Amino acid sequence: MKILIADDDPVSLLYLEDALQDWGYEVVAVPDGQRAHDILHGKDGPMLAILDWMMPGMDGIDLCRTIRANANATDSYTYIIMLTARRETEFVVEAMNAGADDFISKPFDVAEFEVRVRAGKRICELEQALRLKATHDALTGVYNRGAIMDILQKAVARHEREQRGLALLFADLDHFKHINDKYGHPAGDAVLREVTSRMGRAMREYDSLGRYGGEELMLVLPACTADHALVIAERIRTAICAEPVDTGDQLIPTSISIGVATLAENSTWSSSQLIQQADSALYQAKEAGRNRVAMAVAAVLPP
Ligand code: GH3
Ligand code: MG
Ligand code: MG
Repeated sequence: MKILIADDDPVSLLYLEDALQDWGYEVVAVPDGQRAHDILHGKDGPMLAILDWMMPGMDGIDLCRTIRANANATDSYTYIIMLTARRETEFVVEAMNAGADDFISKPFDVAEFEVRVRAGKRICELEQALRLKATHDALTGVYNRGAIMDILQKAVARHEREQRGLALLFADLDHFKHINDKYGHPAGDAVLREVTSRMGRAMREYDSLGRYGGEELMLVLPACTADHALVIAERIRTAICAEPVDTGDQLIPTSISIGVATLAENSTWSSSQLIQQADSALYQAKEAGRNRVAMAVAAVLPP
């Protein structure tokens, strides 16, 4: 597990870094609060942070408050241990009120420090496991409905700020009821898993795939033009009908219909309007014969 330490005292920083490395942690050590802030809010930021109270610029308490103020439901929790030469109760209270999970006074007992870090690690691991369960679909492993809706709302808000475009793909398996009826529900489940896995391979790294419900899947494509969204949708459609799904004892021909809706510059659709547009495009694709992609308002592309 990765741990961040922020301390402006180089001797203390090196000592902590050595100890944590000896106990098997991966350590990121920084000498000030601002750098700690940037690393914690960056990609794959550490889940556990040990912050010195007194640092130039942003101190440990300011950083603690900032982390808690910016936390949102989809980010992972940051477990914070406040480190300081102060030991009076009022300081412990102030640190915990600012959002710290634990408090260690310097100089500290190494054995006590180790078990406190281990307690923090336990909380982080529990939180990570719960978060994964709460945001992912148990059958397919893609985002569940709550998580993908959250991602879509954030992507719409980001498009409003940055105007970089946004596309939503709404996909629905064709005649899936028939697949269940003919091959059985376990085979239907295997088809759903394989379809999401093929979709995952056809999308870009920063796109998000979720299960909206039953056999309906949603793909959120940030910074994506209508033309590019169509290319990705076609790539997905082709990947799914190109080869039947192999369940081990059956080969099941499968296809998918996809509705595409996009936000271009100055579009003011809300996330629910975007979903409505993608959903009606999906309806057009189904009406036009299935196994095809349709663009909201625009014409249906032939398979
Ligand atoms: P269409 O081409 O118009 O979309 O037809 P369809 O049969 O796919 O649509 P319909 O809505 O009639 O049926 C959807 C089916 O999806 C019915 C339901 O039993 C099945 N389904 C939903 N969730 C699951 C699941 O998790 N596993 C399996 N095996 N089937 C599921
Ligand atoms: Mg269907
Ligand atoms: Mg459906």
